[in-house]
Amino acid sequence: MDKKERNDLKKYLLLQRDLGFDELYLPVSTRPKRKVKPKRIKIDDFEDAESLEQLDLSINKCQKCELGKTRTNFVFGVGNPEADIMFVGEAPGKDEDLQGFPFVGRAGKLLDKMLGELGVSRDDVYIANILKCRPPNNRDPLPEETKQCQPFLIKQVKLIKPKVICSLGRIAAQNILQTNKGLGEMRGHWYDFHGIKFMVTYHPAAILRFQTYMTPTMDDLKRLVKEAKTTD
Ligand code: URA
Repeated sequence: MDKKERNDLKKYLLLQRDLGFDELYLPVSTRPKRKVKPKRIKIDDFEDAESLEQLDLSINKCQKCELGKTRTNFVFGVGNPEADIMFVGEAPGKDEDLQGFPFVGRAGKLLDKMLGELGVSRDDVYIANILKCRPPNNRDPLPEETKQCQPFLIKQVKLIKPKVICSLGRIAAQNILQTNKGLGEMRGHWYDFHGIKFMVTYHPAAILRFQTYMTPTMDDLKRLVKEAKTTD
């Protein structure tokens, strides 16, 4: 069931409740079906992927740039495939490379805590990075690497169709907005990223180093959560 079907079903059920019905009769065939593994498609056909799982299967052996040779794990992304809120970071660090999931280190734990304060859990959102593989010694992504990897992120966005996207840190924001502007200049505005409302905030790793970024980041996250709730 896709997001629209889920929303339509929710509306239908609420209507039934408002009409006074407290029972629902379902045909036997609505029992959940056993999950089948999606067909593996070639990396060059990744645009044809119909689900995140199929996209992951199609791209996770990628060797389109040099990072394919040095990574431990391909870090596809994690979270609710139907999330209203999506976060985009820069690239996997050491912990993420070892575990295969984004934002699992100290910065990720801080992000979870900040979201928790707003009543949002990691399971409610989707988290991915500009680059799916760790750059050696956490150096900045190279233009050729982001050029190869960004189409995968765009495809993730198209499949998830979140209501809002927030990038974490300067590098992710600059890549998405294709600009050299500083973070301070990019913050505080809504942009468009492939038809989705997009905003920018500080990277949680920056907050770990400079506590002063905490309050403005919480303000940004509050705005993000509010926008997700009010956007259709
Ligand atoms: N920093 C990022 O930008 N992404 C991660 O996944 C982890 C740390």
